[in-house]
Amino acid sequence: MARKLVAANWKMNGSLARNHDLVGKVLAGLSGVACEVVLCVPHPYLAQVGGLLEGGAVGLGGQDLSAHDAGAYTGEVSGAMLSDLACSHVVVGHSERRKYHAESDALVLEKVQKALQAGLVPILCVGESREEREAGETDRVVLGQLEAVFAGLDDVAARKMIVAYEPVWAIGTGLAATPEMAQAVHAAIRGALGTRLGADAAVVPLLYGGSVNAENAASLFAMEDIDGALVGGASLDAEAFVAICAANAAH
Ligand code: PEP
Repeated sequence: MARKLVAANWKMNGSLARNHDLVGKVLAGLSGVACEVVLCVPHPYLAQVGGLLEGGAVGLGGQDLSAHDAGAYTGEVSGAMLSDLACSHVVVGHSERRKYHAESDALVLEKVQKALQAGLVPILCVGESREEREAGETDRVVLGQLEAVFAGLDDVAARKMIVAYEPVWAIGTGLAATPEMAQAVHAAIRGALGTRLGADAAVVPLLYGGSVNAENAASLFAMEDIDGALVGGASLDAEAFVAICAANAAH
């Protein structure tokens, strides 16, 4: 997969004024950069950012969605609403959702199914904690999270997925996995997808997330099974984010 995919996860950051400035600078910086880019922004700003992106090649995404379609679920946002606001993607099962909102694998699967029904591309996040890595359980945990979702999808749906490997210990810590560490897990994910999808496992983009920055992006992108990145902190800095997107040009 030569052309990389870089998704921004702004998390709970932004304001009307700041978004306007950030998106303007990102769009200007991306001109001529061959990279697929999606901005996953807080729900209240989807309409604003969607307007700023309108007519261009940069996609819009949500950071979560409800497992319900509509009705008495105060505070929730459905997949149909995200589609209505021109989203193409949605992050599902981010470790912060799993940790702070007790999202189980079963709930993550329900959300992935709702996203697909709404025509959204789910960016499914999987990743181990520091304790799990130190206990040698990385592959068991990551492949378990992966299988819990893919087991509930038919092959057509499985091919529409994006998987983001995000080791929990690397998120927001400044301590990214080395390219070799990330590649090893990506290869294991690709292998598991291959058992299910055969050669079509190659069509499922595998993103790495966890302290990606302008300095380490190129070496991560050089790895065979790293098809792009999910970027948190650095996506709030236009210069750094554009540099990450441009880092794929070397490969
Ligand atoms: C994330 O929020 O998904 C993430 C990877 O964050 P950061 O890039 O800040 O580690």
